[in-house]
Order: sequence, then C-alpha cells, then structure tokens
Amino acid sequence: MSCNCNKEDGCNSGNSRREFLLTGLLATVAAVGCSDKKTAFSREGEVVPSGEKVKLLSVDGEVIEVDRAFLKPVPTMPALTNSEERKGIPGKKFVMVIDLSRCKNVKACQASCNHAHHVQDAQNWIKIYPMKDADQTAPYWQPTTCMHCDEPPCVKVCPVDATFKRQDGIVLIDSDRCIGCRFCMAACPYSTRVFNWGEPELPKEIADKPYSCETSVPQKKGTVGKCDFCPDMTRMGMLPHCVSACPNGVFMFGDINEDSVTNGAETFRFSDLIKDKSGYRLMEDLGTKPSVYYLPPVNRNFKFEDGLNKEEPVEKKS
Ligand code: SF4
Ligand code: SF4
Repeated sequence: MSCNCNKEDGCNSGNSRREFLLTGLLATVAAVGCSDKKTAFSREGEVVPSGEKVKLLSVDGEVIEVDRAFLKPVPTMPALTNSEERKGIPGKKFVMVIDLSRCKNVKACQASCNHAHHVQDAQNWIKIYPMKDADQTAPYWQPTTCMHCDEPPCVKVCPVDATFKRQDGIVLIDSDRCIGCRFCMAACPYSTRVFNWGEPELPKEIADKPYSCETSVPQKKGTVGKCDFCPDMTRMGMLPHCVSACPNGVFMFGDINEDSVTNGAETFRFSDLIKDKSGYRLMEDLGTKPSVYYLPPVNRNFKFEDGLNKEEPVEKKS
C-alpha cells in the first residue's frame, strides 16, 4: 500500500458527507500505513509523561497510579448532589432474583461486595447461610442481601431520616446523617444491617474520599452499613458486584418495569421466571414487600456438601 500522508487535497476535494467520511477513512488508513516503523505515539500531539504520579480509584475499586499527563476530565459522570442520590434513578424499579438451586457457597459474591465497598470480612453485607427447612428435607445454601423492601420497617423507625427509600426501589443509608442509634437494625426482620463498632480499616485514599451514599464509601465508625444494590453501578448501566462475581449465575438483577433480569450471561423475563420456577420472597407474611425473590433449591446443580469446604472467605478479586 502506498503512503498518502502528504496528500493535500483530502479536506478540499468535496463537501458531501460521503466524501468527508471517505477522506477520513483514507487518512486513517494512511496513518496506519505510515506507522510501520514508528509507534503511534511518535507523532506530533503525543502525550508526554510528566513523571508526576497520581493515585486514583479504578472502577473495580482498585487504587491505581497513573502519570498526571494522562488525566483528563470525564464530563459524562458529574458528581451527584446528596438530594440526587436520595432521589434515585427515574423510571427504574430494581429487583433481584436469587436461584438457590445454583448456589455452592463459593462466596465470590461476598468477597467482591466487601472489596468494592471496603467492608471488612467480619462486616459482610452478603451472608450465605446453610439452611435446612425440616428434618426430612435436604440442606441448601442461601445468600442473603438487603431485601430493599417496598414497605421497609428500617426506614419507618429511623429518627433522623438517615435511611430512606428511593423512587427506584433502593433503600440506602446516609452515613453523614446516621447517629448510630441502631433502631433500624432492631426493626429489620432479615438481620441484614451491620454496625461499624470500630474505625473501618481503609487506605488513606479511600478514607479521604468525599462520602457518597450511592457508593456507601467510606464507611464510618458509629454508623450502620448494609447491602446497597450498588446504585453507582446501576447508574452506569452495570450489574451489582455480587451478580458479576458469581461464577454460577446465582444472582439475577434487573428492572421490574422492563420485566427483565440478567446474571450477565443469561437474561429472563422476570414475570415468567418467577411463575415458572415458583419464586417466593422471605417472610412474605410480614408485609415488607421485598425486592429480592428466591427460586427454590430444587434440581440443584451442586450437592450441599460441595460448599462445606468454602466456609472461609475466598481470595479478594485483584
Ligand atoms: S431488608 Fe431490612 S434493611 Fe433492607 S430494606 Fe428490608 S427492613 Fe430495611
Ligand atoms: S442507626 Fe442510623 S440509620 Fe439506623 S435508625 Fe439510627 S440513625 Fe437511622
């Protein structure tokens, strides 16, 4: 292929959209063709490293170090105000389905959740309980998150409006308001809330971050924490950390307004899934109206015993 780098009639050869696109394509091809012996960064306009390193938090929750010269503003993700965080995402109503027939107590969900929210292992927001309903029935594993109840008793008892329900169905805690009275912990029938008795062990970069009730980071001593359905991820159109981390597709997440849930690999019509597989909610008779549904542990993919050697938390994701 001949090199067209010095061709000067490209931009002036016509003004139709088609010609413009064709010229752009040729210019791109020419640039690639010319780069046989040189790297793409050797052209004019290259970013020159400054030598000054900056620590950043990646989307995976990792603290990374990059040269300051490579930083640029991200205009599509402005910081949200506290009232925007409390309002939620318009038009959405989030729902989770947990398929008990697929759970093997791998605990990748728990490790990923703890890692993303900088929660210590003893403070797990997701618990995986060994269950056995009656003497004659088989045991199974049951992951338990906050149920994000539509009638949340925790919200009703909070005296300072620190825990609240958003229009998208997510129940959150504002640690800047929480006074640590723990009324909400007493009111929650699912025992999903944990109290930060001590100062959370956080890297300085995380501890210094401005608090957001969408990320729930950084956690604070003397306040309550719990599963938040990862609203920062859903705002970006991504799945909660537990859903993405589970290798067995146990967790499915979606929008009940779209009647759709997915575990990342499979997508289901929510209403069909719940009807066909006899989905249910925990403690339905309490009237809390959870947003988390369970599929019963029938035709299980794994034996209960396969999960017994996973009683210790798995390695955190790097
Ligand atoms: S599960 Fe507990 S903490 Fe979560 S919304 Fe329901 S009552 Fe509140
Ligand atoms: S511990 Fe915090 S969130 Fe819970 S009821 Fe008290 S003030 Fe509200």
